[in-house]
Amino acid sequence: MNFCVLTLFPELFDTFFAHGMIKRALDKGLIQGTGINIRDFTHDRHHTVDDKPYGGGCGMVMKPEPLDEALQAAKKQCPESRIILMSPQGQPFDQQKAIELSSREQGLVFICGRYEGIDERIYNLWVDEEISIGDYVMTGGELAAMVIIDAVARLIPGVLGKEESAQADSFIDERLEHAQYTRPETFKGQHVPEILLSGNHEKIRQWREDSALKRTFIKRPDLFEKMKPTAVEKQMLKQWCTELSRLAEQ
Ligand code: SAM
Repeated sequence: MNFCVLTLFPELFDTFFAHGMIKRALDKGLIQGTGINIRDFTHDRHHTVDDKPYGGGCGMVMKPEPLDEALQAAKKQCPESRIILMSPQGQPFDQQKAIELSSREQGLVFICGRYEGIDERIYNLWVDEEISIGDYVMTGGELAAMVIIDAVARLIPGVLGKEESAQADSFIDERLEHAQYTRPETFKGQHVPEILLSGNHEKIRQWREDSALKRTFIKRPDLFEKMKPTAVEKQMLKQWCTELSRLAEQ
């Protein structure tokens, strides 16, 4: 998949593309990453990319002409790409969206706004989708684009090795992932649960299912609205209720 980022600060992506899984994926040719500097598409002496808003008010707005030319260049590089505007007004990004983008798209072009955002006509002419990474306002879209590239790239087949598989990740099937432990067996008086040392795969699977359900119940009960408890989960929940009431009566 081709990730192309339109930004006033392409150098922010140099480090991002040069580390960890993202670098490995680039090296293996599983993804491509390009930063396009919007300022390169200005034609005046001062390389102006912003201007005052019509109607007055504070702040500046990103001019349409450099963005339009930068988008033409991006589309030439990667004609099949979906154009995504990073914006606090967009649809909230989540794991389902990451799965959808990684499985359906050949390329993504990100428009990273700055100042008060972009001229609305660019939105009308070019944008396929507007995405937000949360209900807060940042100074630019670059961090938001990195969040999306990272979440999407790790879902592309071959990017994660077997050891880092995304199968059991949080938000797959609207549940959080189970608790994780590594060596040593005892750390500052806390022991790794016995079952995980038993080598009994079925018991370990059950323990993980139980742990995932507990964590979802405690940390993110809202996820049960998205996917109701399954018959097995209901059984586990009933068992805890019995255990909890026994504890409460002690
Ligand atoms: N004036 C705009 C508004 O109130 O909707 C906010 C502009 S913000 C200061 C500048 C740029 O940062 C935006 O154009 C967008 O690209 C990016 N940005 C800020 N917050 C974001 C968020 N939560 N998700 C995605 N992009 C965001």
